[in-house]
Amino acid sequence: MLDSLSTSLKDAVKKLAGKAVVDRAAVEELIRDLQRALIQSDVNVKLVMQLSQSIKKRALEEELPKGMGVKDHVLRIVYQELVSLMGPETELELKPQKILMAGLQGSGKTTTTGKLCRYLQRKGMKVGAICCDNFRPGAFVQLQTLCKKINVPIYGDPNEKDALTIVRNGLSALRDVEVIIVDTAGRHALEDDLIDEIMQINDAVKPTHRWLVIDAALGQGARDQAKRFHEAIGIDGVIITKMDGTAKGGGALSAVAETGSGIVFIGSGETIDDLERFDPDGFISRLLGMGDLRALVERAEEVIESDDLDVNAMMKGKFTLRDMYKQLEALNKMGPLKQVLSMLPLGNMNLPGEVYDVTSVKMQRYRVMMDSMTDAELDDPSVLGTSRIHRIAYGSGSSVDQVRELIKYYKMMQKALKGFKGGGRFSMNRMMKQFGG
Ligand code: GDP
Repeated sequence: MLDSLSTSLKDAVKKLAGKAVVDRAAVEELIRDLQRALIQSDVNVKLVMQLSQSIKKRALEEELPKGMGVKDHVLRIVYQELVSLMGPETELELKPQKILMAGLQGSGKTTTTGKLCRYLQRKGMKVGAICCDNFRPGAFVQLQTLCKKINVPIYGDPNEKDALTIVRNGLSALRDVEVIIVDTAGRHALEDDLIDEIMQINDAVKPTHRWLVIDAALGQGARDQAKRFHEAIGIDGVIITKMDGTAKGGGALSAVAETGSGIVFIGSGETIDDLERFDPDGFISRLLGMGDLRALVERAEEVIESDDLDVNAMMKGKFTLRDMYKQLEALNKMGPLKQVLSMLPLGNMNLPGEVYDVTSVKMQRYRVMMDSMTDAELDDPSVLGTSRIHRIAYGSGSSVDQVRELIKYYKMMQKALKGFKGGGRFSMNRMMKQFGG
């Protein structure tokens, strides 16, 4: 999401490099670039105006901090203002609570309800879901399937037309559960009966949180949706879904601004694990091309907890084929490789596209080929000459080209890691310590 905004912002700020004083013309040019980029990303025009005015004012009026270049000074202001546009940091306590999910049909509400169950379950909470979406045929079965997979109890009744009855029965059926997530009915458009229904459900549930689920691809209409739901039940958090699927996403940001609440989670894919806690600082850092480590650290910790993974061994200075395999395995557990790598502060280290292109099928093939290698080859792949390659191909039932591809991939990763931070050694452990992980 916001890919083009990210590129435009980086380009706009780059123009300030090397300047010794803040000059009005340069700032005005930056503001124009910024406005264009934000509007193209579907951010509400009024919001763009407010934002750009405050950036302009601060950039021109605030004194240049000692030792700071113009570019960093302005970048800092843009960063701070964008972070505040994202709304306040949201709270999510791990305690007994009820969460009401609101949003239009197709926004990803049901999927997100399942993801949320999974997220909280992983945090050690006893979770349950109520599906009172009897408007969309199949919503109950969809949520039931998701919940079954992760062993989470769900209450629903496809034969009961009255959502309020379902909710009441559900609350009593799930009274032993710590966190209850209530998936409500959506509609194709904002209709009065939808709003009435959700208000009644809200009264009956008295939820701790009322979260609005918004599709990142939604344009300017997102703001109206947010307004209606907010007026009806008081939205206190927004979940933006389908962040993986759009380059825009500004509409969702306008929705956030409309509710005055923050973004709680972002959905970044179709599987049940594709839900990330939203961190405004990290998000904007990434948008502006600064590496964000906190989100990665959080995920890395989860992987360690759940699988007892040796993260220390993940990325070492001495990088063998074994290390590469372990690292790929670990990274894959954290999420799509591209996503995970985008969170690392790789700066201008442009990784070749193929680096990201490791599917689980490929991983399996790598594993089989590596099983046909000797310990010496695994520890030092530089010994792999033609005859060894032929032997490995034969032994693993692969083609010579496939073995060469594995070696090529290894070399690419090795080179990439060497290039990391001016040739320094990269330690995941050190990185985590540095960021308080
Ligand atoms: P609901 O009508 O609001 O309950 O929407 P659903 O949960 O059924 O989701 C609608 C579609 O969006 C489904 O095909 C989901 O798989 C898809 N979806 C939901 N969240 C995400 C996401 O974060 N990323 C992607 N790519 N697809 C999503």
